[in-house]
Amino acid sequence: MVAKFQKKFTQQEAIPEQAIAKAVDVLKSGRIHRYNIVDGEVSETSLFETEYAEYMGVKYVLSCASGGYAMHISLAAFGLQTGEPVLTNAFTLSPVPGAIHNAGGKSVLIETTEDLTMDLIDLEKKIISSGSRVLLLSHMRGHIVDMQSLCKILKRYEVTLIEDCAHTMGAAWDSKKSGTYGLAGCFSTQSYKHMNSGEGGIIVSNNKDFIARAIILSGSYQFYDQHNAAPKEDFIEAMSLICPNYSGRMDNLRASILRPQLKLLQSNCERWNERYATIEKILKKTNGIKLPQRSKKEKFVGSSIQFRIPDFCNKAVLLLVERCRKRGVVIKWFGNKKPIGYTSNHKSWNYLDYEELKETDRVLSTLFDLRIPLTFTLEDCAQIGAIICECVIDIQKIKSSP
Ligand SMILES: *Cc1c(COP(=O)(O)O)cnc(C)c1O
Repeated sequence: MVAKFQKKFTQQEAIPEQAIAKAVDVLKSGRIHRYNIVDGEVSETSLFETEYAEYMGVKYVLSCASGGYAMHISLAAFGLQTGEPVLTNAFTLSPVPGAIHNAGGKSVLIETTEDLTMDLIDLEKKIISSGSRVLLLSHMRGHIVDMQSLCKILKRYEVTLIEDCAHTMGAAWDSKKSGTYGLAGCFSTQSYKHMNSGEGGIIVSNNKDFIARAIILSGSYQFYDQHNAAPKEDFIEAMSLICPNYSGRMDNLRASILRPQLKLLQSNCERWNERYATIEKILKKTNGIKLPQRSKKEKFVGSSIQFRIPDFCNKAVLLLVERCRKRGVVIKWFGNKKPIGYTSNHKSWNYLDYEELKETDRVLSTLFDLRIPLTFTLEDCAQIGAIICECVIDIQKIKSSP
């Protein structure tokens, strides 16, 4: 039997030394608010936006308070009207329907495939039945739907795309970066995502009108001239009196620790993928464990791993979670009606009109999820994989004995 796993699944790496030094500089300056600059100074926040725009290959970037906030004001800047339907994934995290609610919209949930991406047949059906003008596509747990097929459907029905890239920072589909396929891409820099500033959000876009509205909505007052990855001051000014101030800015302290992390992003994505591959390879060897199929076009970031055991009944599922937990491996089950920790299921979003989602329920009923923090070594990952397999095989034996 493999020994009990000792490390914590919630332990992220330390903030890089260079980022800590930068943060101390900001604290010493006292100028933490993004618009608090001295003559000739460019704020850390604005510098971060310029660097992120360069990294993403987009014209405009606005950083803000959180990923959920980025989605909320993206919908508002798109021009969502109160009560309007917004298409989104049934399999996603609660801040997504939450952002739609906050923007005055009504979520229309789309079914999930076994590979954990949006079911495009259901999408087309619900575009027609809802008449929705906008899709908030959540690349939940980094699984990217066939973007060419998706965009074809959206084009046919003139539906605007906003991407939730909380789990696809650093990822791409067909060599085009995730977050650049539609009107806007929304990212999170909350501690459990691919860059860590505690809390934080980023919006990327190539649309001048959209980003101008988003800048005003984020609470820029009349300081939009201090945004560098943005349209010219007079262009934004024209919008400044027609958009409300939903105050939710990024600040210089968080931007200062994000800038050095951006330089490490690519190599960190590679480190995640080595860890993912190590666990995946071991899980694949056990009969009954199914891993989502990934397209060759999908360049994903394996900061978490999902697998299903389609043959397991609810009792076996709970037994697996419990046995793994006793051996130090924290796996989450997405089928639970009651949200536990960060899991969430559409059945727990009781403020929405209930929708029957048979396929999603079937997939989630045997879906497991593991976080892969970079504090884990490849040996740790091999140990985790082995523990899961041992527990699965034990439970399969109980099930098959008379
Ligand atoms: C974390 C997360 C968000 C929101 O990010 P916050 O910064 O925590 O608001 C959005 N979508 C998904 C899928 C997430 O996991």
